[in-house]
Amino acid sequence: MKITDIRVGIVRIPLKTPFVTALRRVDMAEDLVVKVITDDGHTGWGNAPATVVITGDSHASVASAIKDTIGPQILGMDIDDREAILQRIQHSMVHNTSAKAALDIAVHDLFGQKYRLPLYRFFGGLRQRITSDLTISLGEPEQMVQDAQKAIQAGYTNLKLKVGVDAALDIRRVRAIRQAAGPHIAIRLDANQGWKPKEAVRTIRRMEDAGLNIESIEQPVAASDTEGLKFVTDHVDTPIMADESAFSPGDVFHLLAIRACDLINIKLMKAGGLGPASQIASMAQASGIDCMMGCMLESKIGITAAASLSAGNPAIAINDLDAADLMADDPIIGGISYDRNELILPQAPGLGITDVAGWQEWDYR
Ligand SMILES: [Mg+2]
Repeated sequence: MKITDIRVGIVRIPLKTPFVTALRRVDMAEDLVVKVITDDGHTGWGNAPATVVITGDSHASVASAIKDTIGPQILGMDIDDREAILQRIQHSMVHNTSAKAALDIAVHDLFGQKYRLPLYRFFGGLRQRITSDLTISLGEPEQMVQDAQKAIQAGYTNLKLKVGVDAALDIRRVRAIRQAAGPHIAIRLDANQGWKPKEAVRTIRRMEDAGLNIESIEQPVAASDTEGLKFVTDHVDTPIMADESAFSPGDVFHLLAIRACDLINIKLMKAGGLGPASQIASMAQASGIDCMMGCMLESKIGITAAASLSAGNPAIAINDLDAADLMADDPIIGGISYDRNELILPQAPGLGITDVAGWQEWDYR
């Protein structure tokens, strides 16, 4: 099974409601969808959404990295040389983690297809279903309460709230949602770098004193401020999770070495695919630190890949894989299916994806 062609297309998927965080507002999900084609007629699927404010990757930069730089380096390689292909993907250029992730996912898909192995089995096969939270967008407290109630009615038992724009308003938002949700719903927060270290400690302590029972708080401070992250972790009781500070295995090694956080949010688009993401999970496991599997606003291709690693790996204890549930439409045929707040892993080989409706080649030049 040799790689003979790599093709890039774009899929646009309308959202149920706009997605708002401390960093951006998005009305329509756009995902770059890659096909890696082999000489025996198999297609491996991969994807990369543009997240310029997070990874720095735009669709044009991802497409160019795949078509002009990384792609030519892996054309002609045999899928049985999986590790050699993955190394070449990672080492053919620096940064560009979304482009690397798209190709890495497609190569894993092809390996699973060749040996008729569902990817979650390849990664360990611990669970056939995993539970995801649902993210509530930033908004007025009343709107966020309404959205939270809707999510609970739909079967979600874990909510993730976006905060980090105004600390006083954040506390009002969380208090209102805790009152509406009752004591048994798990609430985790994501500040998306929105606070200064001391402001974060003050705000989190006020939430602790108010008995809001927050499960964890993601990325309270700026991505580059690892000392600030450690300061927050050391001065509050609530578990602190690194997200934008934790891209590569090297970043995570540093965070673990200085004990800067209690939890790591792994995302394929930050790590550069399933290979580096597995390394992060192993390092965290060895350090006694749990991971959450997260995602971008992306199609079910990346969600199925992320769910496959998470379902196989004991270090990944929680999941924030709700992107497909935020979308009004699903063009991906196959992959994971849903049962309320659970993702059910496909039993078909690889990602179990057979086609993408409306896929069209994209000429990015
Ligand atoms: Mg986050």
